[in-house]
Formats: sequence, structure tokens, C-alpha cells
Amino acid sequence: METKGQSPHRRWNPLRQAWVLVSPQRTQRPWQGEVAQKATPSAMPYDPECYLCPGNKRAGGAVNPPYDSIFTFVNDYAALLPDAPFQTSHSASPLLAAEPARGMCKVLCFHPDHSLTLARMTRLEIRRVVDAWTREYEELAGIGWIEYVQIFENRGAMMGASNPHPHGQIWSTGFVPDEPAAETRAQREHLDRTGRCLLCDYLDAEHTAAERIVFENDHFAALVPWWAVWPFEVLLVSRRHVGAMPALSGDERDALADALNRLTARFDNLFETSFPYTMGFHQAPTDKTQHPEWHFHAHFYPPLLRSATVRKFMVGFEMLGMPQRDITPEGAAERLRACSETHFWPR
Ligand SMILES: [Zn+2]
Ligand SMILES: [Zn+2]
Ligand SMILES: [Zn+2]
Repeated sequence: METKGQSPHRRWNPLRQAWVLVSPQRTQRPWQGEVAQKATPSAMPYDPECYLCPGNKRAGGAVNPPYDSIFTFVNDYAALLPDAPFQTSHSASPLLAAEPARGMCKVLCFHPDHSLTLARMTRLEIRRVVDAWTREYEELAGIGWIEYVQIFENRGAMMGASNPHPHGQIWSTGFVPDEPAAETRAQREHLDRTGRCLLCDYLDAEHTAAERIVFENDHFAALVPWWAVWPFEVLLVSRRHVGAMPALSGDERDALADALNRLTARFDNLFETSFPYTMGFHQAPTDKTQHPEWHFHAHFYPPLLRSATVRKFMVGFEMLGMPQRDITPEGAAERLRACSETHFWPR
């Protein structure tokens, strides 16, 4: 198939088992949509108003310790609770179904310095975050009723992040949420059908194609996936077949910290802005069954389209029909490859 051409086509996402519409001929259309504010990194290492800075009081009344590396706490306004008193009652119709949803929402501060981001932290500092994520995953996986641990970061006001302080969230649930559940099915089907891992096979195909890989280190590859929906979407995938963070070796954790730093620096440099995104790790469910099909990876979903102020919207046909993109994943990978890994705003 001609993928470099300028004609509309749809691409298959084997991990989500869904199609994506690619319309490269539309990239020249004039933009009359919303123009947002350019986001610059915060210049304040400490913000007395920030509820995540060391020593500050949180809205719930608790006071943060004077932490000097990482800091974790249970979200004061959690979306999920460990003891959900919800009673399943007989409803009038099976179409009005509901279930109790137990879970736990934690916050992990990456650094005491309010002005930093993964893009401007050192690899050693990020390695401490990787170790904290690993510990949290292991601890939560050890709790009998927790079936999934979702580690993620929302960055930037454009993605609804309420606070620029470098932090992420860890939501663990008594069920496997829809996205990892769909990826579990897809990976299991691929393993059953071929005897091989879906993402190991996919990474081989990307190495052969050599068009969408942004960069690699010894243990991780960062690429714009064949099926990317968001303009500069990136899949960060371990080169070794590993199901979850606790299975990563020390060298692999260093390599993950290195990859996170290099990728986020490229993102920031692309439009010389503090690049907004939602990122999160997908790893094996913790539902106390074996998951040989699972291959550890992270998704980065950044909304920016053509500048620091113009974002992509998922509306219209995308809400009603299917996701659609304009610039090709190959074009996006080429632009990210051209970006420096030295941050435009040094510490
Ligand atoms: Zn802060
Ligand atoms: Zn694999
Ligand atoms: Zn995934």
C-alpha cells in the first residue's frame, strides 16, 4: 500500500483492534479555530500556593512533609475509594446495569522543585521516579482485590492538569479498565494465533520499515505508531519482552529514565513550549493470573497540532465515526527526529 501518498486511507491499530482515518491532503487547510496560550515552563522553584510543594498545606487539610526527592499520598479528592458501599440492587431492566467500583487514587510528586518537568529533570532524578512507580505497582499488585494499576501523568492546562508541579497519578482498580482490557484481548489473540508477542512482532516490523522510530536506547524504542491518532503521539516500548515494571532490570530502569527525559525534551523543543500531554504506562493486569501476552509500554497522547497554541480536537466525525488525523505518523516521526535533546530552556 502507498503510505507516503497524499490520499486518504485508514490504518489498523492491532493493539486496540480499531481503525484510524489518515487524511494527509488536509494539512494545508487554513486554521481559524481556537488559538490557546503558549505554555512556558514555570520559573518558580517554590510556589506558596501550590498544594504539592514541600511543606505546604493541601486543600484537604493535610500538610506535605519537607520532602527532598519523591513524595506519594492518597488523593484528597479520589475518584475511587477502597471501600465502596454501593449496593447492587435489582433494577427494572438488565439494560440498566451497574456494579460497585473499588479503587485507590494516589498522587506521586516527581520532584520538590515546582518549576521542573521530566524534560528538565536529570536522568538520576527520573530514575528515582521509575523506582517509585515500580514499588507502587508491586505494592498495589499485592493487594488481593486490585486487578489493574494505571500509572499516568497529565501535563499542561490543555490536558486539564490542575497544577504545573511535576507529578503523576496512580489509580488502581478492582477491575481491568476498558483500554488495557482491549489490549489484553488483542495481545492474547495474537499470541494464541501466532505463538508470538504482538508488540515484539510490531517492533520488528517498525525496525524493518525504519520510518517511524524517533530514537532508541539500549532497552527502549520511542516511535510514532503506525496507527497514531494524536498528531505527535508516541509509543515507548521496551525492546525486551517484559510484562511490567518489576521485571525491568536496573539497566532497563536507567534506560526508561533516559528515554522519558529524551522524549519529553524533544517534545518541548518541537514548538519551544512546555509540551502538554497525557502519558501512561500499560502493563500486565494484577488480577492474579498469568499474562505471558503482555508487553510493557507507555503511550504519550499530546494534543498539539501545528504550533504551541493550536491543538487538535476530537469532535464531529471523530466522536461519531472514528478518529482521524492529518499529518502522517511518518511526517510526525521525522519532525521529532529533527528535534534536539538539549532542552531549549536549560536548568
Ligand atoms: Zn509546587
Ligand atoms: Zn513482547
Ligand atoms: Zn497500551
